[in-house]
Amino acid sequence: MKRWSLKIKLTLLYTFFMCLVTCAALAILFSLSNRELLSNTQSKLMRRVQQSADSVTLVDGEPKVDSDFYSVAQDVYLSVYDDTPYFLYGKIPYGFDSQPDIKDGQIQRIKEQGKDWYVYDMSFRLAENVTVYIRGITSVTDAESSYRVILRFAMILLPGLILVTAFIGYRFTRRTLLPVRRMIETVRQIRADTDLSRRIGLAKSGKKSADEIYLLAETFDDMLSQLEEVFQREKQFTSDVSHELRTPVSVIIAQCGQCLEDKNLTKTQCGQIRLIEKKAKEMAGIIGQLLFLSRADQGRQAIQKEELDISELTHMIVEEQKFLTKEKDVDVEFQEDIEPGILLKADETLYIRLMENLISNAVSYRKPGEKGKIKVSLRTSKEEVTGMVEDQGIGIRGDELPLIWKRFYRADASRTDRNHSGLGLSMVKWIVEVHGGKIEAKSREGEGTRFIFSFPIKK
Ligand code: ADP
Repeated sequence: MKRWSLKIKLTLLYTFFMCLVTCAALAILFSLSNRELLSNTQSKLMRRVQQSADSVTLVDGEPKVDSDFYSVAQDVYLSVYDDTPYFLYGKIPYGFDSQPDIKDGQIQRIKEQGKDWYVYDMSFRLAENVTVYIRGITSVTDAESSYRVILRFAMILLPGLILVTAFIGYRFTRRTLLPVRRMIETVRQIRADTDLSRRIGLAKSGKKSADEIYLLAETFDDMLSQLEEVFQREKQFTSDVSHELRTPVSVIIAQCGQCLEDKNLTKTQCGQIRLIEKKAKEMAGIIGQLLFLSRADQGRQAIQKEELDISELTHMIVEEQKFLTKEKDVDVEFQEDIEPGILLKADETLYIRLMENLISNAVSYRKPGEKGKIKVSLRTSKEEVTGMVEDQGIGIRGDELPLIWKRFYRADASRTDRNHSGLGLSMVKWIVEVHGGKIEAKSREGEGTRFIFSFPIKK
C-alpha cells in the first residue's frame, strides 16, 4: 500500500478533528436551541389558553365567546368544549382532523398528516354547575420551520467549511514542512554528487526562527561541516603520507640498483636485494596511485585535454601490453577491433592509465593454467565513442560487481597473482568521469568480464 506523505496525513488528521469538533458543536447547539424552542412554544400555548378564559362568559345559562376568541393570535387556535365534551365554538387549524380526548391541564403532542401539534386543554368553571374546556392547538412543525432552515443551511455550509479547512490545513502544513523537503533534497544531492560542501542553509535564506525543524536543519548543517572537515583532514593525511613515503621508497629502489652492481655479492644476497627492489617498486606503484586519487579528491590532479587519435593510441597501448606479457612469459592472446581515426579531446596520460589498468586487470584475472583471451575494441556512433575491454577470465560474482569501483576493494584477494591494491578501478572510474563519460562492468563468474566505457563527442 502506498504510504501517504506527512503533509497529507497531518492535513487529514487536522480536517478530521476539525469536522468532529464542528459537528459536535453544531449538534449540541441545535439540540439546546430546539429544546428551548419547544418549551417556548408550550408556554406560549398555555398562556394564550389561560388568557382566553376572559373571552368565555355565561349568557342566559349558556357559555358564549366574544370575537377575540376566534382570532389566531400567536399561532394558537382556540376552541371551547362543554363537559360532555362537545365542541361548542372556536377554530380548528386546517389539517388537524383528529379529536384527541380532553386531558385537563396537560400538553399532548399529536402527529397529524406529517405535522406535529401541541394540544393544551384547560377546564374553566363558568358557574356552579357549568364547566367548559378551553382547548388551544398550535403547530410544532411551523414553529420549528425557521430552526429547520438554519439546520439545512448549516448542512449545506458544512462540506464547504470542511473543504476550506482542508485547504488551509494543507497549505499551512506544506509551509511548515518546507524545510524538511529541503533537508531531503540536500541529503539526496549529497548522496548523488558525494559533495559534502552542500548545506540546507535555512539561516541564509533569512527564515530564522526558533521552531524545531529550523533547529534540526541548523544542527544538520553543523554536522555536515564537521563531516566535511574530517574528510578534508583524511584526504590531506593520505596526500601527506604518500608524499612523505615517495622519497624513501625511491631511495630504497635506487640503493638496491647500486647494491646489485657489486660483484662481490653472493647469489643469495642478490636474490634478497632483488626481492627488496621488487617489493619497493610495488610499494612505489601503490603510493603513486594513492597520490593520484588524493590529488583527484582535492581537485589538484592536472588534466590537459588535447585532440587525440585514440584509435592509434589504443593500438599502441595494446602493442605495449603484448610486449610486456611476452616478456613475462604470460600466455595471452590479444584481439583488436579498433575503428581507425577516432578523435577525442582527452588527457593522454590519463587515457593511457585507463586502458593500461583495464588491460592489466584482464591479464591478471585470466583463468589459471589457461591461455588468456583479451579483446579490445573502440567504436564511434553519432554521439559517443565506446570502448570495450573483454576477457574470458575468472569473472566477478554478481554481488561483488557493484563494489569493484570502491577503493581498496578486491573481489577475491587470494586469487590475485601479483600485488594488487584495489585502487585501479577507482582511478579508472575517476578518469572516465572527469572526461564526462561513463563506465560499466558486466561479468559472469567463471566466464569472463567486459568493461564498457563511453565518452560523449562534443561537436
Ligand atoms: P586491483 O588492483 O585489485 O586489480 P582494481 O580496482 O583494478 O584493483 O580491481 C578491483 C577488483 O575487481 C579486483 O581485485 C578484482 O577482484 C576485480 N576485477 C577487476 N578487473 C577484473 C577482471 N577483468 N576480471 C575479474 N575480476 C576483476
